[in-house]
Amino acid sequence: MKEQPFWNPILETMQQEKLKTLQLRKFQRIFKWTYENSKFHKSLYQSAGITPSDIRNYEDIKHVPKIEKSMMRSIQNKDPFPYGDALCVPLEDVSTFRQTSGTTGQPVYQPDTWQDWEWWSECWAYVLWAQGYRPKDRVFIPFGYNIFVAFWAGHYAAEKLGCEVVPGGVLDTQARILKIKELHASAMMATPTYILRMADVAKNKMGIDPSELSIDKITCAGEPGASISSTKKRMEDAWGAKVFDHSGATEIGAWSYECDRQPCGMHVNEAMFLVEIEDINTRKIIEGPGIKGKMIITALDRIAQPCIRFDSKDIIEWDSKPCSCGRTFRVIKGGVTGRSDDITKVKGVLLSPAAIEEVVRSIKGLGDEFEVVVDKQGDVDRIKLKVELLPEVSKQDVEFILKDQLRIKTNLGYRIEYYDYGSLPRYEVKAKRFKDLRKKH
Ligand SMILES: [Zn+2]
Repeated sequence: MKEQPFWNPILETMQQEKLKTLQLRKFQRIFKWTYENSKFHKSLYQSAGITPSDIRNYEDIKHVPKIEKSMMRSIQNKDPFPYGDALCVPLEDVSTFRQTSGTTGQPVYQPDTWQDWEWWSECWAYVLWAQGYRPKDRVFIPFGYNIFVAFWAGHYAAEKLGCEVVPGGVLDTQARILKIKELHASAMMATPTYILRMADVAKNKMGIDPSELSIDKITCAGEPGASISSTKKRMEDAWGAKVFDHSGATEIGAWSYECDRQPCGMHVNEAMFLVEIEDINTRKIIEGPGIKGKMIITALDRIAQPCIRFDSKDIIEWDSKPCSCGRTFRVIKGGVTGRSDDITKVKGVLLSPAAIEEVVRSIKGLGDEFEVVVDKQGDVDRIKLKVELLPEVSKQDVEFILKDQLRIKTNLGYRIEYYDYGSLPRYEVKAKRFKDLRKKH
């Protein structure tokens, strides 16, 4: 029997027109549910003069007010404690607490019911199936299971697929590598930062070549690295494995995935989510490919604390081509390329940390770690880039190409500081490589 390439063949290959109708129906349903059950949302929509009967077609959706993270923060710790009045179900129906990582401020609490939790793992099942996970896989999850949603739903989805899941919870990095070796694990999930960190520890502290271990596929999330081609290549070379990207968020869900045909692009799961891209300047919705904007997203089936037209601040753009894998779900070109709140202007030019990462990781003589510090001398912005030289590589070997590539890819000049391999900070989960000191003054 020929193997089924899709997790849900009906939805993943549905014609766009039909998909849009499905999205509209689902939007109407979740909007009505939320309007009737969340005091917070109802008062927001009432002040905008919108009721459920006003959503008659796809165009009407654009008039629904957006939700910002700060709005969710402002209601929490109120009744029903601790979530506040966006909660659409009785408190006793909540089965799971999670919170955002708080990288951009006070963490936001996220309640889910059991139905929501099953929905989370269903969304992740699309991701894993598309990336080649099958029941025969033994999946190792090197993740500190805690209050962050991170790979929890990936764990359950892998079980749902029939894979054998090994939770690598409180083990340290060396113990995790030994466990992968001992059990011949075939797949794993982690942030790009940690995938590279594990490879570094295996090679340089344990004398184990990770490419000789049995891992053949890796799913990354939490950072954009797996959609940055030079970072993807470093991970794939180190582990001798295919590396795939996935993007999701605590308040949203697991909304996108890279398939095995689309290097550095991600399908939006359009059966479960409605993604709109808003032009940052005109605030109009961008319909076609080729223009970057920020993502406004609706989770079409999430019920406890709904996510309706949430301003994610992720910068994305539609790809122009359909994917050769046969999925009709549209593709985000190059994955999530940045966030509207960390794409900062330096000397009047937009600086994207992902573009710097792309350059640093493409140069063979440099280590995986780097740090960018933006500050001000008088009125002039300055950017310092700290990089590590690999052993036996000198500054002269890399300086010309590094400066040249940075100028071409980012249109900015840098003061570059070179460090010995191993001297910049290492991170276990998400890295903090970008520092803007101007904001403090
Ligand atoms: Zn595809």
